[in-house]
Amino acid sequence: MMEAVPQNEHPMHCEDSSRSNKKLSGTSTDIEKLYEAVPQLANVFKIKGKIGEGTFSSVYLATGQLRGGREEKVALKHLIPTSHPLRIAAELQCLTVAGGQDNVMGVQYCFRKNDHVVIVMPYLEHESFLDFLNSLSLEEVRDYMFNLLKALRRIHHFGIVHRDVKPSNFLYNRQLKEYALVDFGLAQGTPDTQIELLKVIQSEAQQAYNKSHVPLGSQVSVTSRQLVQQSVTKTANKRPCSFSQTQIKQGHKRKEGSDCHSVQRSVFGERNFNVRSAAFQENSTIKLIKQPRVTDIASRKLSTKKKTSAVTNGVAKKAASGYPANLTCDCYAKDRVCSVCLSRRQQVAPRAGTPGFRAPEVLTKCPNQTTAIDIWSAGIIFLSLLSGRYPFYKASDDLTALAQIMTIRGAKETIQAAKTFGKSILCSKEIPAQDLRKLCERLRGKSTNSDISTGDALISVSQEPALPAEIGNTLESVPHTTKKHFQYPRKSCHQDDGTDIGTVAKATDLKGWDNVPDEAYDLLDKLLDLNPATRITAKDALLHPFFRIMKS
Ligand code: ADP
Ligand code: MG
Ligand code: ZN
Repeated sequence: MMEAVPQNEHPMHCEDSSRSNKKLSGTSTDIEKLYEAVPQLANVFKIKGKIGEGTFSSVYLATGQLRGGREEKVALKHLIPTSHPLRIAAELQCLTVAGGQDNVMGVQYCFRKNDHVVIVMPYLEHESFLDFLNSLSLEEVRDYMFNLLKALRRIHHFGIVHRDVKPSNFLYNRQLKEYALVDFGLAQGTPDTQIELLKVIQSEAQQAYNKSHVPLGSQVSVTSRQLVQQSVTKTANKRPCSFSQTQIKQGHKRKEGSDCHSVQRSVFGERNFNVRSAAFQENSTIKLIKQPRVTDIASRKLSTKKKTSAVTNGVAKKAASGYPANLTCDCYAKDRVCSVCLSRRQQVAPRAGTPGFRAPEVLTKCPNQTTAIDIWSAGIIFLSLLSGRYPFYKASDDLTALAQIMTIRGAKETIQAAKTFGKSILCSKEIPAQDLRKLCERLRGKSTNSDISTGDALISVSQEPALPAEIGNTLESVPHTTKKHFQYPRKSCHQDDGTDIGTVAKATDLKGWDNVPDEAYDLLDKLLDLNPATRITAKDALLHPFFRIMKS
């Protein structure tokens, strides 16, 4: 019944234009357009409305006469026509091979006409995370985590790394106690993955990388560097007093990758890579410093040739090629990225997902990423469930996210863990790790109206008196010198409709929150292990004492 996914290559279109066109039209015209684009849908389904709209797909609720003439609700996922055929095929293969069991969404049909692909899945009605977060009992939280880990155990067994584990991709029907992990649009394979197309994606990505890897000094690099320069300058104008707090040194044996600013790489599992990369540079006041010993062939050549003159002059000289001769990074604690750093490439490593859910090894672009990254994301979800805060980390870029992780897990600990996967991070001040129970209890318990007013405001850490006490405590050890803006999560969805959060918090006390067992925080600690090599697996997490009372 499954129709073949498109085999024909089609040119990549500009995502921006297709997105803004989509915005202009309403849901009903979107439905008409979908019927037009894939006419065979009309023979089977009646599309009722849109239930999800992302950058890369629109999801609709539809009813259809399926097997045996029974009317069934389905979800139709219409992928944006610019998706790479291989990417689409891999998403489908994840659903067909691993889906349909253990809380992993399955697939019923797939329709295609030209470059339009529609995936038909069983419909699971669900609430948004914010709508149930503050009313869940501890038992429900236990159940939720157990079922999430069950889904992860299954996909990891098949060698699938989901890469985008977050509440909107884990559907929860509270009444039916049903769960479904969805959205394999960013999935990647482990080296021994059972999903054949994920293997193909990996090797295609490697080829694309090889092709795009232009030696330093080429036209492509110059252009891309100018792009970076522009955005950095713009930032400097906007925020004249942004200082660096944390620096990452890429002291890694691995060859540096191609520059993401100039190369279209979004098709292979990093669909938001291009969009994000510019913002990443623009917002970063914590800098990514690449050590001179990084073995980019071209820069190493430059290094041996020019080092002497650079050292003696102590001034950034331009070499004949137009590249700075001084190879000593000079941007620590300055408000702009130095020319040496600008001339270096970003390391190629998958950076998919949402910053607040990314594991430290993803944030630091460790090239060897495993299924452990999904476990970290599950840990972040658990942290939200235990603290009543969502999103827990609302970072717009990776280095802000890393700094936020440090405020909870400790700077020394983060630095130590990063060393194990070949990254060195510099942080100007000691930030102690927090006790997870105390942190969660403080955030959950002190749900008074006084801190609600912060809303989505950007909080500058340097302006300590402006911080509500509760958030100030969370960040108390963040260096005062930093002017990095932390965006703090909204308290909850109840703020807007005037619900008394204090009352909600009291009500939840009756749901087991006055007596959270140590096992909960022990599991949280093991899920949020900064070191991916020792981080608990889904299989082991399901055997954790916190789940003793559950039946597998
Ligand atoms: P995207 O790649 O655009 O994020 P998803 O597969 O995550 O697409 O789907 C987007 C949203 O659509 C989900 O967050 C969910 O709300 C809804 N959705 C997706 N699949 C289903 C389904 N099978 N049943 C019900 N809702 C779904
Ligand atoms: Mg999604
Ligand atoms: Zn520098």
